[in-house]
Amino acid sequence: MQLTLEKKAIQKAVARLKFRTQAFIDGKFVKAQSGKTFTTENPATGQPLAQIAACDAPDVDRAVKAARKAFESGAWSRQKPADRKKVLLKFADLLETHAGELALLDTLEAGKPIGDCATMDIPDTIYCIRWHAEAIDKIYDRVSPTGPENLALILREPVGVVGCVVPWNFPAQMVAWKIGPALAAGNSVVLKPAELTSLSAILMAELAAEAGLPAGVFNVVPGYGETAGQAIGRHMDVDMVAFTGSTEVGRYFLKYAAESNLKRIILECGGKSPQVVFADAPDLDVVAANAVSAAFWNMGENCSCGSRLIVHKTIKDELVAKLSKLAKTWKVGDPLDPQNRLGSMIEKPHLEKVLGYIEAGKGEGAKLVLGGKRILEKSGGYFVEVTIFDEVSNRMKIAREEIFGPVLSVIPFSTEEEAIAMANDTNYGLAASLYTRDLNTAHRAARAIRAGTVSVNCFSEGDITTPFGGFKESGFGGRDKSLWAHEQYTELKTIWMQLT
Ligand code: NDP
Repeated sequence: MQLTLEKKAIQKAVARLKFRTQAFIDGKFVKAQSGKTFTTENPATGQPLAQIAACDAPDVDRAVKAARKAFESGAWSRQKPADRKKVLLKFADLLETHAGELALLDTLEAGKPIGDCATMDIPDTIYCIRWHAEAIDKIYDRVSPTGPENLALILREPVGVVGCVVPWNFPAQMVAWKIGPALAAGNSVVLKPAELTSLSAILMAELAAEAGLPAGVFNVVPGYGETAGQAIGRHMDVDMVAFTGSTEVGRYFLKYAAESNLKRIILECGGKSPQVVFADAPDLDVVAANAVSAAFWNMGENCSCGSRLIVHKTIKDELVAKLSKLAKTWKVGDPLDPQNRLGSMIEKPHLEKVLGYIEAGKGEGAKLVLGGKRILEKSGGYFVEVTIFDEVSNRMKIAREEIFGPVLSVIPFSTEEEAIAMANDTNYGLAASLYTRDLNTAHRAARAIRAGTVSVNCFSEGDITTPFGGFKESGFGGRDKSLWAHEQYTELKTIWMQLT
């Protein structure tokens, strides 16, 4: 289904939607073995959407067995890279055919604006699968520079059975970031979507099978973190887990691995990303536009959200005035209305968590200059105003903890050393932005900031060609996107030969 971004057309398309609600294991839709289901809800209305199979350890075990069997058969793992490419390109084509449906599913389950889902998330999802598919028959292994009496091949081989546990903030896209390189490299995958957003992942599994992916190569087990997620983490026959989500749950995966089979764990966790604006920033209107996007895009439910705006004191008041004016134009409301830039928070407990942070900001003496309240309560949805705090100190709770909501903290500074020290004074290190006209300042600061991605004079996570991941408690073990993502789904093997 292709979608016209017009309110009536969207309503009609929603009415035609069909939900796939079962697990997808060994090439088939199946119920959870317990027969249990859980409710998925539309956070913009508070109304239930569907009942989803609640998978637990026995379902994960079944999926892992199917994945292992498929892996050992070689039907995918030992297929020629050019043939894997063909299947994945067909998969991308099918995703494209279903782009409208995928965008609607993510909007309905996550409360994300349909404009963003239709023009960013889903096109990026498709492009990600295509990019990794295209790459796979262009990657060479190596021959080591030994003496003439030996030949040493340095090879990359698929890891085996890969568990993927993903969050709710970019449901389809996070699936693609994991399975794109994992499947391209020849692995079998068992994926658990976030319990709040399972629908697009289940559809993606069906489309992958339709494209020709052999049964068992890509399995989706919807369910709760503590049950299905933990079962993946602790399974003795899962070779690695690629996880995106909170740092807290990332720690659990390290524990699961330590207490089971020492599986490889790749963590992409939270952030508290600084945006540093030097006094010589090129154009404060451009800075304001970028800063508003960095803080409020996807309702701030973004791991690289630029939630700390560290601004030179001489330009702070002018920039705050521009930010407030611009932020007011970011309309909050029904995510199915393409006019709205922000939808709802993901669920009621999360809304309450975000409102709790706003109260903490007020309580600690930050100056509330915009927003700060729950709105549109009659809709039944979990909407919060775009919120800006000025005069924040980097020691305050709102400057230290990941809020994952549309809350921007403005923190003044006087010297470059102070700005860099504040930017780095965080447990996280996922992303950062900086604004300056001076090439020397840009280089110096970009090198000094401890973060996986530093963007200069813009807000960006780079594109599919650049690795994405964090320093410090933002994660470790590998990177999403780019050819570095392929590496993390492979084992390095040396074949050492004696020549005569
Ligand atoms: P979680 O880290 O709890 O969830 C991420 C994934 O891990 C989900 O699939 C979840 O399943 C699963 N999971 C949860 N608990 C366990 C467990 N004990 N064992 C194994 N798997 C588990 O993120 P939340 O969705 O709860 O959000 C909480 C906070 O995390 C947010 O407020 C935000 O600060 C941060 N976050 C960061 C993200 C990022 O991109 N870095 C993305 C999402 C959240 P289930 O959905 O069933 O709980």
